[in-house]
Amino acid sequence: MSSLVITADTIVLADRILAGGAVVVVDGLIAEIEEARSIAIDQGVRRIDAAGLILAPGLLDIQLNGGFGSDFTDEAETIWAVGTRLPEYGVTGFVPTVVTSDMAARERMLSALAAGPPDGYRGATPLGAHFEGPFLSPNAAGAHDSAYLRLPSEADSDVAGWSSETGVRMVTLAPELDGAIDLVSALTSRGVVVSAGHSAANREQAVAAFDAGVTYATHLFNAMPPLGHRQPGLAGAALADTRVAVGLIADGLHVHRDVIRIAAQAAGHERISLVTDATAGLGMEPGRYLLGGQDVVVDPESVRLADDGRLAGSALSADEALRRFASMSGWSAVEVLATMTSTPRRLLGLADRGTLRVGARADMTVFTSDLRLIGTFVGGEPVHGPWR
Ligand code: ZN
Repeated sequence: MSSLVITADTIVLADRILAGGAVVVVDGLIAEIEEARSIAIDQGVRRIDAAGLILAPGLLDIQLNGGFGSDFTDEAETIWAVGTRLPEYGVTGFVPTVVTSDMAARERMLSALAAGPPDGYRGATPLGAHFEGPFLSPNAAGAHDSAYLRLPSEADSDVAGWSSETGVRMVTLAPELDGAIDLVSALTSRGVVVSAGHSAANREQAVAAFDAGVTYATHLFNAMPPLGHRQPGLAGAALADTRVAVGLIADGLHVHRDVIRIAAQAAGHERISLVTDATAGLGMEPGRYLLGGQDVVVDPESVRLADDGRLAGSALSADEALRRFASMSGWSAVEVLATMTSTPRRLLGLADRGTLRVGARADMTVFTSDLRLIGTFVGGEPVHGPWR
């Protein structure tokens, strides 16, 4: 029975913050949480002292297109190689995203998920697929290849198999398209989280989507009409509706820092979900990479389509996203950590991840008070940082 005790000055629990305490891990699960740092430890149990540091759940990135040179739409089987490296950024769970493409790319992703990890895998867990498209608005396709866009009313047998059981965790669609509301109802009844995005929806169309079960807005403000004071559109409707969490790409480029701050204040500490929307360029040198079959150019600041210079995801790491959002929002480290732990956990309905509680998987991170990542644990094993 492998055991570990981690003590820290701040421990972020599901329902409160412990000012000093200890987490006991047995066989990959959190077995005990103590309010005192000085607890009796049996012989042979490893003790890690994260003095002066924050112990938090591992980060969850619910929109990730690839990384380290690999694109999930192009090569779905790379989820495991990429997942092995994500703990370097504090990520212990991710939702690999397939952008608008032909059906084969989505099938490859479901097959890769179903095949499971290679033997001895010690990386972040893929939590099911995020299909961003093909039911997106041609007026808000962003960097998606419009040749593959389809209407929900033309959805075929491919979609009939989309459910949480077959590995589809999230679908981003434009709710104003013909047949979209029926598709929202069908997908949510099969356990899929449906998000509105790449959409030209007005406020009324957005509210109809939320009424039908849409609970998320994909990268708020990007690829949707701007928030106008008389025409709030999807962006304003999502911020105003407490049933909906909003995704933000907090690189400082996709959304102006003032608007990030406005969104943070409007949505509050439980509805902001940071995503990286990172591409194959994550963790790589500047250069040319693929996103959904299209060439993208990674420079030190951004990722753009080679063709027209349009933003095409990011090369942002999750921990850097947290730091940038902290500086833009003015939120505390613990409040910022919620944007990639408890908020996506609630959105996805995860019981045993994104939270530190007895019985949960011991996926954990250790951060400084200014959100520098010190270490990452996957299933109680130190996989990144000084305690490996
Ligand atoms: Zn997008």
